[in-house]
Amino acid sequence: MYEQADVVGGHVRTEWLRGIPYEPHGAHIFHTDDSAVWNLVSKFTDFVPYQHRVTIRMRSHQLSWPLQRDELPQLEEWPQVERELSLLPPEPDTTNFETYCRSLMGQTLYDLCIRNYTMKQWGRDPDKLSASVAVNRVELRGDSYRGLFRDRHQGWPERGYADLVEALLEPAEIHLGQPITCTDLAEIARPGEPVVITSALDDFFNGELGPLEWRGVRLESEFIPGTKLAQASMVVNEPDLAVPWTRTIETKWALEKLHDVPRTIIMREYPGAAAKHYPVPDSAGRNKALQASYEAKLAAHTRNPLMAAGRLATYSYINMDQAVRQGLDAARRVAGTH
Ligand SMILES: Cc1cc2nc3c(=O)[nH]c(=O)nc-3n(C[C@H](O)[C@H](O)[C@H](O)COP(=O)(O)OP(=O)(O)OC[C@H]3O[C@@H](n4cnc5c(N)ncnc54)[C@H](O)[C@@H]3O)c2cc1C
Repeated sequence: MYEQADVVGGHVRTEWLRGIPYEPHGAHIFHTDDSAVWNLVSKFTDFVPYQHRVTIRMRSHQLSWPLQRDELPQLEEWPQVERELSLLPPEPDTTNFETYCRSLMGQTLYDLCIRNYTMKQWGRDPDKLSASVAVNRVELRGDSYRGLFRDRHQGWPERGYADLVEALLEPAEIHLGQPITCTDLAEIARPGEPVVITSALDDFFNGELGPLEWRGVRLESEFIPGTKLAQASMVVNEPDLAVPWTRTIETKWALEKLHDVPRTIIMREYPGAAAKHYPVPDSAGRNKALQASYEAKLAAHTRNPLMAAGRLATYSYINMDQAVRQGLDAARRVAGTH
């Protein structure tokens, strides 16, 4: 395995400070309906049950996220919101991100909790984003279920993600600090040997067809002595444009056994960093088309069978369980070709 960074794990990383966990690349909760993936990761580390909760701060209110209809009457805008909810179309409008959200919750709620958050997170007007960003992520609930995810299996690794990643890598030969591009293949693989690519394909092909667009985040962590828990849920969304970060994260929420320890860590997530965290699904489909061209180049490579796996290489907004699933599928294909 060749890794450009000097540590393994990519975005999935847990650090500890005086016994308190934090995640320098963002909050990670393992959730999946794929039982084979769950059984695999659970074999390598112990997961504690954790049902992820998110809240959203709007002026003096702090509501559940996704929004719950029974909490909305506390908003000053409720009469207008109620009128708009009664006029919603039967199906969401999938023209773009903005039309989708507006048709799901009405203009007022959209303006209050989605519009500015999205402008901060993606650095563009929401109508320039594809509706696919919102499908399965933006909801208006009426069932009082306050967990973010509904997957059958949900949890957090008791000793953090580094433990899981290192256990998964146990049999692998690991080379750190080595960025790999297509020009390095002759050095790292024999002719005909299959290679699984997990880097962004524009990086792998030295940007030959132009750059793919990415959005990145930067996290700032603050250790707070003398406080057991500093916020109402592990993640608090901040849609207010006057607040420069998009959300705050307190990973400690995942480990109930630590809740009485009198110190904690809060991370503030700032948008717009030069990092490859989120592929940008523009509503015109430009990035998707460029990724398809890079995938065609990958398929046309003759010296080695090349397979893409993971968020970067497939230019997709996938979760850890899907990345593990793609890794398993790639391993099967490697076994089949080699
Ligand atoms: C802020 C944030 C929050 C998230 N929260 C969750 C969550 O709660 N639950 C969940 O399931 N998922 C979550 N995810 C998604 C999760 O991080 C990804 O699914 C997972 O990281 C995918 O792994 P990957 O291997 O595809 O990519 P990465 O984690 O990015 O790993 C790719 C690795 O390849 C290395 N690399 C890149 N280019 C090269 C190169 N040219 N040569 C050598 N090495 C290279 C990188 O250094 C990196 O180590 C979140 C992601 C982000 C950004």
